[in-house]
Amino acid sequence: MNKQTLAEWLEEGENTFGSHKLKWRFKCPACGHEASIEDFVEHGADPNEAHQKCIGRVNGKGTKHQKDEGFGCNWAAYGLFGTLGNGRLVIADDGKEIEVFDFAKSKEAV
Ligand SMILES: [Zn+2]
Repeated sequence: MNKQTLAEWLEEGENTFGSHKLKWRFKCPACGHEASIEDFVEHGADPNEAHQKCIGRVNGKGTKHQKDEGFGCNWAAYGLFGTLGNGRLVIADDGKEIEVFDFAKSKEAV
């Protein structure tokens, strides 16, 4: 699993998606859905959770029978199974390692 410091992670995010953080996108390791931080804001959710939660947890679509319809699921990176080995470990300034979703490969909604 990719491990990087907070500064490296922020730099990669900026290089990939630009300095406007609402446009940053993350990929859910469980269902593969990609959501932007903006998507979280639009659903009235905390934008600081976009790198650790599937959008399905905030749009009410995170149920099993709907997870293949592009709405996301109820996965969270801080849960028991983390990111299933498909996320990243970001080392915070205090040395704490935080498991987060990987950056999405596409810049636009899929
Ligand atoms: Zn998901």
